[in-house]
Amino acid sequence: MKQRNEMYQAMGISEEVISYGEKILEGLKERFEEIDRTAEYNQLKVIQAMQEAKVSEACLLGTTGYGYNDLGRDTLEEVYARIFHTEDALVRPQITCGTHALALALMSNLRPGDELLSPVGKPYDTLEEVIGIRPSKGSLAEYGITYRQVDLLPDGRFDYEKIERAINEHTRLVTIQRSKGYQTRPTLSVQAIGELISFIKAKKPDIICMVDNCYGEFVERLEPSQVGADMIVGSLIKNPGGGLAPTGGYIAGTKECVENAACRLTSPGLAKEVGASLGMMNSFYQGLFLAPVVTASALKGAIFAANIYERLGFAVLPDGREERHDIIQAVTFGTPEGVIAFCKGIQAAAPVDSFVTPEPWDMPGYDSQVIMAAGAFVSGSSIELSADGPIKPPYAVYFQGGLTWPHAKFGILKSLQQLVEERVIVLSEYVEKF
Ligand SMILES: *Cc1c(COP(=O)(O)O)cnc(C)c1O
Repeated sequence: MKQRNEMYQAMGISEEVISYGEKILEGLKERFEEIDRTAEYNQLKVIQAMQEAKVSEACLLGTTGYGYNDLGRDTLEEVYARIFHTEDALVRPQITCGTHALALALMSNLRPGDELLSPVGKPYDTLEEVIGIRPSKGSLAEYGITYRQVDLLPDGRFDYEKIERAINEHTRLVTIQRSKGYQTRPTLSVQAIGELISFIKAKKPDIICMVDNCYGEFVERLEPSQVGADMIVGSLIKNPGGGLAPTGGYIAGTKECVENAACRLTSPGLAKEVGASLGMMNSFYQGLFLAPVVTASALKGAIFAANIYERLGFAVLPDGREERHDIIQAVTFGTPEGVIAFCKGIQAAAPVDSFVTPEPWDMPGYDSQVIMAAGAFVSGSSIELSADGPIKPPYAVYFQGGLTWPHAKFGILKSLQQLVEERVIVLSEYVEKF
């Protein structure tokens, strides 16, 4: 133990911060054990799928050119379909990010005259331009696809009455965002998503139910595709890439939905038959293999941070005890100094670019300055330890990721150290209260 604390001190963490962190951890043992049990279950699920799909050494190699008969690509798509219990899946490096995967799923499964419904409020920022909520070139609106939205009730529940009224003869696809993203609503559990889908299908059975699964994969034992979703969609530089996938996205779902998406990604007639996997397969497979444990590490980090900062009197979402359905943690510091110090600490704990000091900056698409902390092996990867916060009230920071639990822990201790050093908080007052 002594040696470990000496190591922390050598890396700039004071004794006071170490001991505060350890006291918080003592109360988290049972929750961490539960997370480990979920990771164990999901690890077996991934191995079982790889075995049943007969993943072989040859699958780890790639193709070039057209990518006809790409064994690794086709087998990986079978593995995803088995893990998510779907008929088929499209898992490609040519899907550039989560927004692209979602846009692809929507644009390929909707036709002019159809209506898209979000029964869970405003979708993720980048989807506003995909849908055409904010006018944009190539949006669904430009193709004559209309959009309707029903907000959640103030307490976070579904507004079934309004949802029922919003469904009409044009409603073709319902989009359900599992994670709260950067909003203050609760993240939806898989069970809650299942209830919503049952309600919608009872009203109109032929509606396609799509779930934006970003940040949610492997947090629970079930995925939304096991409770009625026709299509689940996500990014490989989040949970399912396990930190190793350097790019990519996936769509898993019914044969029909996936085929539509494939025809749009490549070309009608070519669909899933083309698309070279280049040198990506090894990292896609190995990342997926690691994903359950990586997701568990990120979850532990989120819960540790929630408990650290909640006890210091800051508002945290989710709170320290709530059940988790995604890996994002929000902490409201109430001052720009708090947000900046937190991000500086996360940056200083990174394996890459630790010597860089993050600064608030004007960013396209944001109405205030934003500070971002990330020292990642994969650029922009948010399954790696990362944080960002807009410099505007309520001065909240959004924090996620951590490929290993020790790194997540170190990052959070480092953030706390920074807040103490910049005198945003006086820790000694709190240490005495334990
Ligand atoms: C990250 C995210 C997206 C978009 O993914 P990008 O890869 O950043 O384009 C969409 N929805 C949710 C809920 C997300 O968390």
